[in-house]
Amino acid sequence: MANLPLMEWLPGLRRLDAKFVGQPLTGDVDLIIVHSGALGAHVARYLHDPADDRYVSAHVSWDSWEGPPYQQVSLAHEAMHAGGSRFRGQGGLNGRSYGIELPGPASALERPDIQRVQLRAVVRLMCTAAPTITTITAHQWIDRRKRDPGPGVPAAWFDGLELEVVWRPCRD
Ligand SMILES: [Zn+2]
Repeated sequence: MANLPLMEWLPGLRRLDAKFVGQPLTGDVDLIIVHSGALGAHVARYLHDPADDRYVSAHVSWDSWEGPPYQQVSLAHEAMHAGGSRFRGQGGLNGRSYGIELPGPASALERPDIQRVQLRAVVRLMCTAAPTITTITAHQWIDRRKRDPGPGVPAAWFDGLELEVVWRPCRD
């Protein structure tokens, strides 16, 4: 029996529904996967109304580095953010993870402190909503084709959150 999240929508976040939402989650979520948009800012608007119908979404995303964060997929549903990825030899990650999409580009080396503060706040809210979460990693570590979120988001951003921070390649 799955442990469903205690709430579907995080308190205090604006809502901007993603165009593509996955199926209802049927198992525990234990993982948060951090991304950044390849196209730059306006990630939230892109996922709400994509120009090219790419089948992608994330639970929380930003439109700019100054914020605010938007929740785009209910915590009781899958988002399409890690379909080709593997974590410690396992696939099917959309069924056990929440996806967070920072603004791009992935190559940006320096991200402003406000991004770190907002990201930590969102991670804390997710862990409160879903106490089954144990681990945080990033797209670049679980899919060889991906570079996001890049070196501008170091592991130290997640110090003190009582999560296992997996900030190295961990597909296998
Ligand atoms: Zn990604």
